[in-house]
Amino acid sequence: MPIPLLDDLRGRGFRGEILAEAPLAPFTTWRIGGPAEVLATAAAPEDVELAVRFAVDRAIPWRVLGNGSNLLVRDEGVRGLVLRVRKALDGVAVDGGVIVAGAGASFPSVARAAAEHGLAGLEFGAGIPGTVGGAIVMNAGWHEFETGSRVAEVEFLEPDGLVVSYPARACRFGYRTSAFRTRRGVVLRAGFVLEPDEPLAVAVRLGLPEARGGLRRTPHRGRGSQGTPDRGRPGLAEARELLRQPRQGQRQGRLGARRAGRGGGRADLGSQARPRVRAVVIGDILLFPS
Ligand SMILES: Cc1cc2nc3c(=O)[nH]c(=O)nc-3n(C[C@H](O)[C@H](O)[C@H](O)COP(=O)(O)OP(=O)(O)OC[C@H]3O[C@@H](n4cnc5c(N)ncnc54)[C@H](O)[C@@H]3O)c2cc1C
Repeated sequence: MPIPLLDDLRGRGFRGEILAEAPLAPFTTWRIGGPAEVLATAAAPEDVELAVRFAVDRAIPWRVLGNGSNLLVRDEGVRGLVLRVRKALDGVAVDGGVIVAGAGASFPSVARAAAEHGLAGLEFGAGIPGTVGGAIVMNAGWHEFETGSRVAEVEFLEPDGLVVSYPARACRFGYRTSAFRTRRGVVLRAGFVLEPDEPLAVAVRLGLPEARGGLRRTPHRGRGSQGTPDRGRPGLAEARELLRQPRQGQRQGRLGARRAGRGGGRADLGSQARPRVRAVVIGDILLFPS
């Protein structure tokens, strides 16, 4: 993309980082694939709108990147603009039984925030290594639990600059899909409606092994069982303390484990060993389920 075009994006007031021919591999779970013609990292919510308006005005192809845990980038790279929204849209607010989370917030961290407030319903999200935006677009889920079933509303930036609120029924959530998979635009944030529950029971369902000491064993991530405290009823403070502790053996670690070489540790997919990916374009494939 010619430099004057990049200057144009900057000139419009985009405050984040703009890089030409920037490798995308570091921003995806699989760490493979070529560069983005332009990689724009939004620093503020306004940047997201600016970048989309810029791309639409200039008829430049554009795509949104969440945490890159559900996409492959082909070796040839991606033409046009790739917009990273993680940091610009990472706010999370809890109000009673409702959590409003920015599309860039990590889905596991939103699940933990829910647990810290004694709110049940997003425990399945603790092991899904994406953003809220990615979880909405893909209707991410685990067994019978899925993101869409907890969504009250999704705020979506249309390519013409309009911000539209989609009530849950308009999101057309289906198995690992939603209206936003085919609709051009950016998921900005989502409101989730949750249920008050025993905080320590929520922590157990999140997969915190430490929490199990205080509860009878409950089915992994099950929603039905509330668990039975052995000693009194554990409270919010105790659950918060547990949630602050480092987590061990979580599902996020699984991929690393699968990729680990014989010597253990993370596999180094250096240029020699790097598999060729020819036909896959960013955002066009589901790695999960395969
Ligand atoms: C180890 C591992 C475990 C996983 N476990 C599960 C699981 O249990 N259940 C499950 O459902 N999935 C699972 N996944 C897949 C993946 O984590 C989810 O689909 C996740 O929701 C993708 O989020 P992301 O932010 O990484 O999206 P990305 O991979 O960055 O993007 C996916 C798609 O969503 C679009 N997108 C992302 N953010 C936005 C936005 N704000 N606005 C518009 N479009 C956007 C992108 O353009 C792209 O088309 C797993 C993946 C890995 C690597």
